[in-house]
Order: sequence, then C-alpha cells, then structure tokens
Amino acid sequence: MYEYRAPRRDFQFVIHEVLEAERVLAGLGRGEINRELIDGILEEAARFTETVTSPLNWQGDWEGPVLRDGEVAAPAAFKAAYQQFCRDGWAGMAADPAFGGQGLPAVAHIAVGEMLCGSAMAWRMASGLSEGAVLAVTRHGSEALKQQYLEKLVTGAFTGTMCLTEPQAGTDLGILRTRAAPAADGSYLVNGTKIFISWGDHDMAENILHLVLARLPDAVAGTKGLSLFLVPKRIDGRANGVRCESIEHKMGIHGSPTCVLSFADAKGWIVGNPGGGLACMFTMMNHARLGVGLQGLGLSERALQAGVRYAFDRLQGRSARGPVAKEQNADPIIVHADVRRMVLTQKALTEGQRLLAYYTYMLQDIEELAPEAADREHAGTLVALLVPIVKSLLTDTAMEVTSLAVQVHGGAGFIRETGAEQYLRDAKIACIYEGTNGIQALDLLGRKVLHTGGASVKLLVAEIAKTLGADLPDALKPWALSVKAGVEEWAALTRLVGERVQKDPEELGAAAVDYLNFAGYVVVGWCWLRMALVASAALAGPTPERAFYEGKLAAARLYFERLLPRTQGYAAAVRAGAGTLPTLRPEHFAA
Ligand SMILES: Cc1cc2nc3c(=O)[nH]c(=O)nc-3n(C[C@H](O)[C@H](O)[C@H](O)COP(=O)(O)OP(=O)(O)OC[C@H]3O[C@@H](n4cnc5c(N)ncnc54)[C@H](O)[C@@H]3O)c2cc1C
Repeated sequence: MYEYRAPRRDFQFVIHEVLEAERVLAGLGRGEINRELIDGILEEAARFTETVTSPLNWQGDWEGPVLRDGEVAAPAAFKAAYQQFCRDGWAGMAADPAFGGQGLPAVAHIAVGEMLCGSAMAWRMASGLSEGAVLAVTRHGSEALKQQYLEKLVTGAFTGTMCLTEPQAGTDLGILRTRAAPAADGSYLVNGTKIFISWGDHDMAENILHLVLARLPDAVAGTKGLSLFLVPKRIDGRANGVRCESIEHKMGIHGSPTCVLSFADAKGWIVGNPGGGLACMFTMMNHARLGVGLQGLGLSERALQAGVRYAFDRLQGRSARGPVAKEQNADPIIVHADVRRMVLTQKALTEGQRLLAYYTYMLQDIEELAPEAADREHAGTLVALLVPIVKSLLTDTAMEVTSLAVQVHGGAGFIRETGAEQYLRDAKIACIYEGTNGIQALDLLGRKVLHTGGASVKLLVAEIAKTLGADLPDALKPWALSVKAGVEEWAALTRLVGERVQKDPEELGAAAVDYLNFAGYVVVGWCWLRMALVASAALAGPTPERAFYEGKLAAARLYFERLLPRTQGYAAAVRAGAGTLPTLRPEHFAA
C-alpha cells in the first residue's frame, strides 16, 4: 500500500505558471495573497495530508463507523485527526474572518481541498459538508442564526450536513414530504425521515447542524414549496428530536457514516425565505458539486501515484527492445508499452482536469471580487457553465483512472491490502451524489447552454480563442488545430441539438451525457494546450527541471493523440439523436 504524496510541484505549476494566480489576485485587490504565502499553505497542507490524513484512508475503510443506541462513533483515528485539523486552522480557510475564518480566495486553498480528498476522501467529507453549510448560513441565515452558530461551524467545533434525500425522493426533490410547523417562539418543529445523510451523526465534533429541506403547512406542491431549516442535533447540550436510525453498508467511502435520520418534533430555524429553500440549498450544492469534482480529482491523483509507483517496483518480463535491468531476472513493468500507455493516460487525464478545476475555482474568485460588475457577471456565467462539467467529467474520469490503477497492479490490484481497489470503490459515489452525472449533463445542455441560446458557450470559446491566437511554437500548432476543430464541432452540435429539441424534448436527455463529455474533452484539450505552451517556453531556456516539463509535453501529446479523439465517438452519439430510445418497451428487454 502506498501512502499519499502531495503533488506540490504540479500545484505550483498550475497555480503560478499557468493560471498566474498572483497577478490575477492582485487585480482583484488581494495582492497580499502572493506566491510565497500560497506555497507556504501548500507545504503545510502537504505535510498534514501525507502524515496525518493519508493513513486514515485505509483505516476508515477497514474499520468503518459504528452505531450504538442512536449515536455513531467514527472510526477510532478520525477524531484526533479532525481535532488537529480544526486546531491547525484548516476548517475555516474560505470563511469570513468576522466569524473566525481566514477569508482566503479559492485559488489559494483549492489545492488543500484536493489534498484532503486525495489523502482521505471519506474523512474529508465531514469538513467539506461543513464548508457548504457555512456558505448557506452566511448568505441566507438571519443575523441571529449567524451570531449563534457561524463561528462554531467555521472553526469546526460543529459540523454541518445537507439533508435532502428521502426514501421516495432523490433526484426529484419536488416530492419531498418532511414537514416543518411554525412554533410560537419563531422556531419550527420538523418532522420526517431523511436517508443517505453523509456524516448525519458522529462523535468528532461537539454538535451537528443539519440543513434540512422541508415543507411548511401551507406550502405549494413541488420544489417551490420547499424551505430550508437549520436543525441542531443538540440545543443547549440537550438532544433535539433528531435520531440516527441506521447507517448504510456501502460499496465505498466506508469511513463515512451514511445515516437514516428521523426528525420528531425537532426544533429548527428557517434559513432564507419560506419557499426559497431550494435556492438556498443551491448555494450549498454548487459548492458541493465542485467539491465532488475535487473528490474525483483527488482520487485520480492518488490512483496515478499508485499506478506509477507500482509500475516502477514490479518486475515482470523483458522490454521489447531488450533487457533494461540486466542485473535482475526481469524488468520493471514500466518498460512495457501497454503499461506506459496506462500510466500516461492516468497522468494526462488527471493533470489536464486539474487545470480545468483550478481555473473554475479562480473564476469563482473573479466572480466574487472583480471591481467591475461586467467582469463579475462574465466570470459567473463561465462558472455556471463549467460546474456540471467539472462535477461529471472529473468523477467519471476518476472511475477510469482508479480502474487503471487496479489494472496496472494486476492481481494484486484486486486484493484489498494494496489499497488500489479502494480508490475504485470510493470513486463511484462521486458520480452519483450531488446530482447524478446524468443530471449534471441535463443541467449543462438544458439550463446552461440551450436556455442561454448558447451564449455561455460563446463566452468560453472566446477565452479559448485567446490561446489559439497566441504566438504558438510550430510543434504545438497541430494541437491548437485540434482544439479549434473541437470548438467548431461543439458549436455545430449545440445548433443541431437545439433544433431537434424544439421538435422533440426527448432529444435533450438522449444527447446530454455525450454532449457533456464532448465539451469536457475539448475544454481539457484547451487546458493541455495552455500547459504545453508554458512547458515549451520553459524548455526553450535553461531550466534545472527539464524532466518535469518534458513530462508535461509527453502527457499533452498522449492527450492529443489518444484521448481527444474520443470526442469523435461522443459527437457521433450526439448526432445519432434519440433514435429508438423513446420507443423502447419492457418487452424489448425480454430474455
Ligand atoms: C453514500 C451516499 C451519500 C449520500 N449523501 C447524501 C447527503 O449527504 N445528503 C443528501 O441529501 N443525499 C445524499 N445522498 C443521496 C444522493 O444525493 C442521491 O442518491 C442521488 O441524488 C440520486 O438519487 P436517488 O438515489 O434517489 O436516485 P434516483 O433519483 O432514483 O435516480 C436513479 C437513476 O435515474 C436517473 N434519473 C432520475 N431522474 C431522472 C430524470 N429526471 N432525468 C434523467 N434521469 C433521471 C438518475 O440519474 C439515476 O441514474 C447520498 C447517497 C449516497 C449513496
């Protein structure tokens, strides 16, 4: 089993050399967040995740939480690590300093999030959910709620949950049944059952604040009748009618308790306006969707590391060009072209998508901090377009990259002790929660693209055009042409689907997933072009890091030659249209 190593150099490459975060932050009035400060944060977080959280990954997987008398005990090592996490100040990186946070822009702490996910995803979920709760209470909570709870949440003394799902209502939140009745003192009494609630109960923090979607007595049907309530597990130290009835036995993320929670006259307070619950929840969900994308990225990074390290350790067979390790009776498997294909594919997917994710987070900073309203709006439109792509592409890719890690390990990969199979099991849930990847694709194509008449795609294409119009070295020109062709095809597919959807709404769902994958691969192609430009410039001068930059160009080449062509398959699927999908009947599946 390999422990996690933080990819410090790659973080610096993406944040400083490609995104030029220091310059962008200075333009946003945050010049004090300079390269030295960001590198200091990266180094501290790398140490913490390599030594404290990385071992939690397998410990939590083997041990899991335990439910006794309605109370959940987290895996033994989790609590001490969580307390250290809070003591060291990692809990409130993004939050408002007025409530104990550090107010860091996203681009300065995003890599910390990735390291936490990559080193111990199940454990990280507890603090990740709390960050979403901080956002929801900060943006929508009353002053009284903020004064009472925000500092506790920000500092990690309390954790937060997201309580949406019910047995009959997962994707379709419009049919939620949980009820909230107003009480005389301005609070509400919440009754109902929520299922699949991550970190719904545990013993790592003093208290848990549940953010619960429920209906008021006079609420209209559907999602417009949903309101959001903050329901503490304990009030003034006493139990508050929230009970964990059971915890799920799952495929992965074993360290994270997934709870069935019953609410029986549990006292809570409304967050935001009556009927505005879903809008408030979306504040959390957008944060959570990018966060789930980061989970995929973190797992891909860990699986890449495991693949590479095993490929250099394991001795089997001889290189096709003759023995390499002549002193041994076999060569390391990295000599074989197919093993190189696997690990380079892992690298090209992981590192290309890292830039996509970090770029999206930096756009969030621009959306929040840019002095000009037009710049804020521009960045916000791009973020809205990219969120479903980041969530879906990075998590589907994590399935591929973690599966490749198992494959590189051969039979050992299928055995629990090597750790590789855990990454694959853990990765699957990220494709499902926070809106399944199918729903992300509908969101992208329906709400973000067609609903805006394709305007949001045009904004992103204008950004891509800036790179295509740059003074490119000859070696990169064919790659730039591939990106250009992808962008043109993307516009054509958007027009085609738009026309078809006018005639038959079923065409939207039939095209959505392939459309998202097409767009995602093209955008990651742009990311690789940007990275190749920086790497080529570095290699044109004297650099002590030739191998690092050559590795970038090798991964870029594999991406353009072997991975970007996947878009042809996605485009063909989109062009095929709904075809027979709408006419399927149960009898067609008869065995
Ligand atoms: C480990 C784990 C942790 C979770 N944590 C939380 C949590 O903390 N809080 C919380 O509230 N929930 C949580 N969930 C629930 C999770 O968000 C839901 O499982 C998810 O949203 C899907 O809902 P569902 O399971 O009911 O699937 P369904 O909604 O029944 O969907 C089944 C399939 O049908 C597809 N589908 C459904 N509707 C449509 C449609 N309109 N168009 C096209 N396709 C459709 C889906 O994409 C999916 O493939 C968690 C789940 C798990 C397993």
